[in-house]
Amino acid sequence: MKMEKLGFQAEVSRLLDIVAHSLYSDRAVFLRELISNASDACDKLRYLSLTEPGLVADDPEFRITVALDKDSKTLTVSDNGIGMNREDLISHLGTIARSGSAQFVQALEDGKSKDVSLIGQFGVGFYAAFMVADQVTVVSRKAGETQGWKWVSDGKGEFEIGETDRVGRGTDIVLHIKKDAAEFLEKIRVSTIITKYSDHIALPIKLIEGGKEEKVNQAAALWTRAKSDITEEQYRDFYRHVAHAFDEPWGTLHFKAEGKIEYTGLVFIPTSKPLDLFHPDRKQSLKLYVKRVFITDHCEELLPHWLRFVKGLVDSEDLPLNISREMLQQNPVLTKIRQGVVKKVLEYLKKRAENDADAYAAFWSNFGAVLKEGLYEEPEHRQALLKLARFRSTNGDALVSLADYTGRMKEGQTAIYYLTGDTLEAAARSPQLEGYRAKGIEVLLLTDGVDEFWVPAIGEYDGKSFKSVTRGGADLDAIKGDATAEEKTEPAAAGIDNLIALMKLALKDAVKDVRVSQRLTDSAVCLVADDGDMDMRLARLLQQHKRIDALSPRVLEINGTHPVIAALAKAVSSGKGDAVADAAWLLLDQARIQEGETLSDPTAFAKRLGEVLGKAFS
Ligand code: ADP
Ligand code: MG
Repeated sequence: MKMEKLGFQAEVSRLLDIVAHSLYSDRAVFLRELISNASDACDKLRYLSLTEPGLVADDPEFRITVALDKDSKTLTVSDNGIGMNREDLISHLGTIARSGSAQFVQALEDGKSKDVSLIGQFGVGFYAAFMVADQVTVVSRKAGETQGWKWVSDGKGEFEIGETDRVGRGTDIVLHIKKDAAEFLEKIRVSTIITKYSDHIALPIKLIEGGKEEKVNQAAALWTRAKSDITEEQYRDFYRHVAHAFDEPWGTLHFKAEGKIEYTGLVFIPTSKPLDLFHPDRKQSLKLYVKRVFITDHCEELLPHWLRFVKGLVDSEDLPLNISREMLQQNPVLTKIRQGVVKKVLEYLKKRAENDADAYAAFWSNFGAVLKEGLYEEPEHRQALLKLARFRSTNGDALVSLADYTGRMKEGQTAIYYLTGDTLEAAARSPQLEGYRAKGIEVLLLTDGVDEFWVPAIGEYDGKSFKSVTRGGADLDAIKGDATAEEKTEPAAAGIDNLIALMKLALKDAVKDVRVSQRLTDSAVCLVADDGDMDMRLARLLQQHKRIDALSPRVLEINGTHPVIAALAKAVSSGKGDAVADAAWLLLDQARIQEGETLSDPTAFAKRLGEVLGKAFS
């Protein structure tokens, strides 16, 4: 038998290096990963056999076995699932295809994640075998083909592949157990691990040692059992299996819809946020089953994109078993199921938000930004989502709902004020907030990219419109502030109108207008967008993504009671117009810096600043 030597993809080699050398306490997860792959392989073949029954005719009962051999020091996981041919072995067991996996390897290498147990979540679970084995042999024959293939590797950069004989379809994964992992040759230990991690697998798992066979799991699909018969631990283990996760489920929903359309849902919301939540390739991952048979992992029709953090499965009684993936598109049964699942999830979130604010806050910080995508994607759920939404605000550290906000609006206040920023800290420091702070008027601080889109799309909540504090006039006079808050009563500096006229002349097209500000109390200047213009942060985002060429000119607001402005107004009256023109540019650049923008002409800025400093100290 001739074996051919091939190299692992670089990422795989790096991953294997970490896996083999990690001093990892819970190495037992390797078995969960291999059994999970065996179960997936059986599911895949069962699905294919719906349209091609010949594929399983000779051996119709699916099964998984784990065989222990102390003499040869091997543990072998076998299945009679779909199997792999040469190309499959090379691509599936030699490269990492899935999005997010490369990030996982990077996080492990950087020491940011120590948790090798997350391995299955990233589509690299197979490699966990090298935690306990110094050599792995895979013997496989693909269903419908006659040639068997053998894959051997010690996990050190290369693997060998060649033809071999194998009776029957399916795969054997033979692990040559490392010296320090001998516990995984003990029947009691292995049987306990299987029960712990794989009890919910719907196929019989048999443990074989010395010719004796023993069934070690219940082999009944968990979601078909009565809720009262399922323990929290069983739900958790099942969640970890379907989601390839290792955290606790934050939420578990197990429900049955009966009536016109019948289906069962077992749906989980994770506790921790996956790394690839915002990766463009990330698909929704609620699995679809039909009458207990697995149909597909990624059925985009089953769940909207804005619920892509939800895990688990739906098992339908009404869809035909031989449904093809094409038939899933625009399928009225699926549309109904989708509506039902979305409703259940939203109701569940509402209940948790009401009953357990702390837990809900943790959920919101992980997945709120995703949920907000639904606000503009699906008007149908807008009202429900607006009630679920939580925000940071100038009112303190607690998360705020829109009902909280509108409930404490000030007398005369008609709008919901908000400010968008890249980070909470940057937003909270914005000079545009000063006047609102001084009056004790709460402002929502929005820091997710999606905020730029849903707020304009929605426009209002409960009859109150959303208004950005960085756009248009501040109309603060009509609002009655806190009795304790200092009311701004000082008149604007004398000669302010002349100063404004001179600043406009000096700045020309660089600003749309120069106005006296109502919103500033401490800072001298700030930028705002004019009423009908695009929000400033949105314009910056679009510019960064090269969707617009340049930022259009904004309004420069000046604080009429600020000492610098008063001094400049005085300078204008005493004929020092040239120096004031330079100061106008400095103030505009200062306002830009406070917005987090880069200056278009930093050299000119430095020169002007140098001149001013020079005069001050001469
Ligand atoms: P994942 O299961 O998340 O895809 P793995 O690293 O566990 O990632 O497995 C990689 C791939 O190898 C699988 O997607 C599958 O195509 C293939 N594979 C692994 N084990 C088996 C098996 N027992 N039978 C058939 N294919 C398998
Ligand atoms: Mg796997």
